[in-house]
Amino acid sequence: MRFPLALTAKIASHIIKHKARKTPKFAMVLQLEPLHTCNLTCTGCGRIREYSTSLKDMVPLEQCLAAATECDAPMVSVCGGEPLIYPKIEELIAGLHEQGRVIYICTNAMFMRKKMREYMAANFSPAMEAKLQKLVAQQLVTEKEAEVIRKADATAKAKLVIKPSKWMYWNVHVDGLEYTHDLIVEREGVFKECVAAIKMAKILGYQTATNTTVYKETDVQELEDMFKFLSSLNVDGHTISPGYDYDAAKKDMVKRLGRDPKEFFLTRDMTRAKFKDIEKWGRLFTIFGTPVYQEFLAGKRELTCTAWAIPTYNVKGWKAPCYLMTDGHYPTYAGMLGEVKWETYGVVNGVARDPRCEHCMVHCGYDPSGALGTNYQSGDNWKNVKYNFGAKPKPFPASAALDQRAFNGASIGKGHLAEAKAAINPAASARGAFSRKEEEHAAHEPHVGSHCGTGDTSERDDLLAKIKDAQKSQVGAE
Ligand code: SF4
Ligand code: SF4
Repeated sequence: MRFPLALTAKIASHIIKHKARKTPKFAMVLQLEPLHTCNLTCTGCGRIREYSTSLKDMVPLEQCLAAATECDAPMVSVCGGEPLIYPKIEELIAGLHEQGRVIYICTNAMFMRKKMREYMAANFSPAMEAKLQKLVAQQLVTEKEAEVIRKADATAKAKLVIKPSKWMYWNVHVDGLEYTHDLIVEREGVFKECVAAIKMAKILGYQTATNTTVYKETDVQELEDMFKFLSSLNVDGHTISPGYDYDAAKKDMVKRLGRDPKEFFLTRDMTRAKFKDIEKWGRLFTIFGTPVYQEFLAGKRELTCTAWAIPTYNVKGWKAPCYLMTDGHYPTYAGMLGEVKWETYGVVNGVARDPRCEHCMVHCGYDPSGALGTNYQSGDNWKNVKYNFGAKPKPFPASAALDQRAFNGASIGKGHLAEAKAAINPAASARGAFSRKEEEHAAHEPHVGSHCGTGDTSERDDLLAKIKDAQKSQVGAE
């Protein structure tokens, strides 16, 4: 089966229950943001920009769990910010397990290996020694860390930890191969850490998924290579969604300057062009979501936005109308469902009901539409069943050539991010692009970006343009 039977059955029975009760609107996936603080500063991250006044605020544990109970979504995506920074993340995951949810921890992976070492320390026994040695041999755990695991004291043994479970996925943010990903997250070595964390997770028996946002300049061939590489690591599934920036200021600029909107953001036509091979990817790789949503992305059909099915809960409450756009926050999910004028959002038959929705085709607005049968066409149910119950695509064979294509940036000594920073700020570069001061800043200050964001690429557009200019003048000087 492409997806585990127990999970598929849980989600299917949730849909059937609500269809039988004729519930007009209900939640499928809760996007739970317990905090917006992050250890990275990704370019374009909308979370930090939008919630810049509440970065230090966190949703109390009890409130997080109550939100999951209230909306009763079978799946909970714990995101943020970086959820592994949330001080009660273990308690939150344990509470969601108790509620019987399918859990996705959406992480940038920088703390994953630490959390997995804590799991090993809490559960170490001679039976785990072989795995520990394998991790050391693959340099995923150091000898010193291995000793700490073996000699775990009573406190480490008693610690609540995040254990492997068939109900939980690490969902690692990967926006491309090394060069692209490190550029987007604005730090060298992050892609390498993601890969190390995924490898360690697989050895320890965790389920692992990835999520990718496609941008205007995302290279489609690179995406295919990325899926091949991740598949060669035995990643269990992938979410992929077009990034989209509806930002009014950008549109104003377009209007005032009379520039082609295609220069600034991913339009529907551009999304369709990028995703023209999505159905092929769905056959070759374990892409999460429905084939109906894939047909929508490929431009073969229309869907109506069902943003109410993937609600977002954060420090300000229930965010409406969707993960991307904020017209208000509500204290309860039921209140949000009742008060928001849902019929004023989305695109119907090519006509945007709200101009901000015009080019949106994002996963959080349209993937549930495929599962819920809005815009139902004959054969859709069979397509979805066939896709979910079909054979899981085989892992792509690992090879040195594929590894080389994946690690196309810093680890082969290119130092691409230093080059990027130098192009933008020569003074900072002269004192060392990755000086301690900057590391400290990155560790404590929030940021901007990608799957947690709106898909706003304006800052990265600037960055890429400046790198290109710098490269041109370098070639000219030589
Ligand atoms: S996109 Fe934002 S929240 Fe996500 S890892 Fe980057 S900076 Fe952190
Ligand atoms: S179409 Fe997109 S931007 Fe508009 S409400 Fe739906 S998810 Fe949000």
